[in-house]
Amino acid sequence: MPLSSALNYAPALQQSLSAAQLRLLHSIAAQAARQNLPIYMVGGFVRDLLLQRPSQDFDIVVEGDAIPLANALVQTLGGNLTAHSRFGTAQWQPHATDQNHIDLITARRETYAHPAALPTVQKSDIQQDLARRDFSINTLALRLDEAHFGDLLDPFNGQADLQNGLVRVLHPLSFTDDPTRILRAIRYEQRYGFQLEENTLRQLQETRSRLSLLSAERLRHELDLILREAAAPAALQRLHNLSVLEEICAALPWNPTLHAEMESALTQPPLPGWNLNPAPEELGYALWLLRLPRERIDEIQTRLRLPLDTYQSLCAASALRPQLPALQGKPTSDWVLRLQNQPLTALYALQLLNPIPELQEYAQHWRHIRPRANGDTLKARGIPPGKRYQTLLWALRAAWLDGKIRNEEEEERWLEGLVISEK
Ligand code: ATP
Repeated sequence: MPLSSALNYAPALQQSLSAAQLRLLHSIAAQAARQNLPIYMVGGFVRDLLLQRPSQDFDIVVEGDAIPLANALVQTLGGNLTAHSRFGTAQWQPHATDQNHIDLITARRETYAHPAALPTVQKSDIQQDLARRDFSINTLALRLDEAHFGDLLDPFNGQADLQNGLVRVLHPLSFTDDPTRILRAIRYEQRYGFQLEENTLRQLQETRSRLSLLSAERLRHELDLILREAAAPAALQRLHNLSVLEEICAALPWNPTLHAEMESALTQPPLPGWNLNPAPEELGYALWLLRLPRERIDEIQTRLRLPLDTYQSLCAASALRPQLPALQGKPTSDWVLRLQNQPLTALYALQLLNPIPELQEYAQHWRHIRPRANGDTLKARGIPPGKRYQTLLWALRAAWLDGKIRNEEEEERWLEGLVISEK
């Protein structure tokens, strides 16, 4: 279906938003009109509305001060507000019980003290606010204040680029100013099946070495966003083809096998019985990097500073993977001894990549098998407390796991035998 080239999107808003959302937008618009403030819906919401992929992410730019408007909204409509006066931004959660929030932003312009620095911001108007953005497809704005409700503002021809499937920077120094945009460009390109516009592609290639100027946090944040995408493997492939991955860190791997395995792992339904809902980026890093030896992982860790949980899952999966063949044919208790205390996400990633019945059994059944007895039981039977309890309780659990104990009576007999031998 050809994308719309309408100039007013009031009908599209009516179609894609719920009645409650529309009422909310009109209430915000009415309040803005009372304060004589033009307001605009901007960014991802407008882009996705025009792509007929409605999102719930409301970003509103206010030509004037966003914080007094946000305060007035809380007074008339309630909800919670978090304001950042330094940036003139406010996050308003209209319903205390509902996590959905609306970002209200004072229109601003940005300047960069030096390339790759964080920008300096100054109050401005909508044109300048749109001019500071990354790509033309993110510069579309819909005016919301009453008489103009739904009017499209498109100073950078974003609508045409959406129609032509192009990711285009707004000026030749865009990637130099902010090299995170290199990763953002690929994320949008792959998410929507778009192309990088010709000059944008050239500028990206010319500036990719500037990725080395970015802090670990900013770089990792953009990689996290990529790993949260359904098209993550395709985006990593593209980053590899454009020599961006090697620019980020020479230890980051990519090859066709990895691509195919990651693609297949990420399109599987959740594995039954694991009771695990890992953050997509944590799972993504594990699937991407777990074949690497520890030294390589540590090189990557130095550059990206992954969160501790993610790093630990990755190290655990990397250490365990080469040991799995030796566990084949071993008693259940040997498996459990090796697998317990490992982050479940590490095992989940291994299982997604290369399913092993024992790993599935461990997650679904074995990890839950515990003896009835505990330290108190041993104490009550007159066994003196001490470090030995751990060994005895593990031996008891192992007997359950290996089928040597199958019910409470058998456990009872095992404990009686233990009391005799310990005395
Ligand atoms: P997504 O669907 O990925 O969340 P979004 O447009 O909502 O898309 P955000 O990361 O929430 O993306 O950013 C909101 C808006 O802020 C973007 O649409 C873009 O206009 C602008 N923006 C974000 N990061 C940058 C950047 N590094 N440089 C310039 N503009 C940016």
